[in-house]
Amino acid sequence: MESAEIRAENLSKWYGEIRGVSGINLDIHSGIVGLIGPNGAGKTTFLNLCCGLLEPSQGKITILGEPAFTGTRFRRQLGVVSQKDAVYPFMTVLEFVTVLTELHGFSKREAKERAVKAIERVQLGHKLHQRIEVLSKGMRQCLKLAQAIAHDPKILLLDELLTGCDPLVKYQIKTLLLEMVQHGATILLSSHNLKEMEALTQEVVIIHCGKIAAAGKIGELQQKLKHHEHKVLVQGTELRKLAQILLQHPEITGIEFKDNERSMMVQTMDPAMFYHKFTAILGTGEFRIEKILSQDQDLTSLFHYLVGEIKE
Ligand code: ATP
Repeated sequence: MESAEIRAENLSKWYGEIRGVSGINLDIHSGIVGLIGPNGAGKTTFLNLCCGLLEPSQGKITILGEPAFTGTRFRRQLGVVSQKDAVYPFMTVLEFVTVLTELHGFSKREAKERAVKAIERVQLGHKLHQRIEVLSKGMRQCLKLAQAIAHDPKILLLDELLTGCDPLVKYQIKTLLLEMVQHGATILLSSHNLKEMEALTQEVVIIHCGKIAAAGKIGELQQKLKHHEHKVLVQGTELRKLAQILLQHPEITGIEFKDNERSMMVQTMDPAMFYHKFTAILGTGEFRIEKILSQDQDLTSLFHYLVGEIKE
């Protein structure tokens, strides 16, 4: 069997009666992989199992072929950004990254050189001698990334790294992560923001209630959407009359009125055809439509569809 950088086999973690993750089987080989799920899905638990902070209750997790909880060699190849702000506010940016880099076994001099380089890579060069307590949330995220990359790890585990970052910082981080991937890094990045992830990678693992709902390329997962019903919310006036016209078309599978008939949810198996015909109907000028809302073409709907298949 080809060895994966990260391999989980029937991996479970329970906190007493509470399920963190359950029966996870997953191979992660290379590139950026998005770990996506809502709050409480098990993302942090999974990442903590990967970096050996938690011991599995059942099953196995290996990083670069070593068991994550007991292995030691892989740790020098591992960079971690935790969700919590595990920083020392009284230290300067340079001191903090230098100290943590020394822990990977570098001399003080080399650690400092590496720290400066990493801090510059995350665009914090102008804050080198500032105390961490004065940094903004987005800057602290960059600082956490700097300490995670200063030793040139092969594997990066990034828990909600992009949270609190403005679009420019997100873009800079994205560029940096892609560069690292080009140099052979494997990156697992958790988020509950599907759009954000879509902009960064095609490869996702969707986790819900501690289980993997789906894993693969976003495009492939979206193919699954073709077999489920799309919903489009239409808001406006004279909706009952509009509904009568729409229901004459075979691709409309149902209409449900809401909000005292001020809006209606149209169900269709063929959204492209629906929009085509809908536009033509609206072109007659007979109806006043205030809003048309569809979530079905993006990752959000894919996510809801996929996790809908998992029972809590
Ligand atoms: P979020 O996006 O909110 O950070 P998450 O996907 O990272 O969520 P986890 O933090 O892994 O999810 O939590 C998974 C489940 O395990 C949740 O039900 C959570 O309440 C529970 N859990 C996590 N840590 C502990 C703990 N130390 N003790 C008890 N239960 C925990």
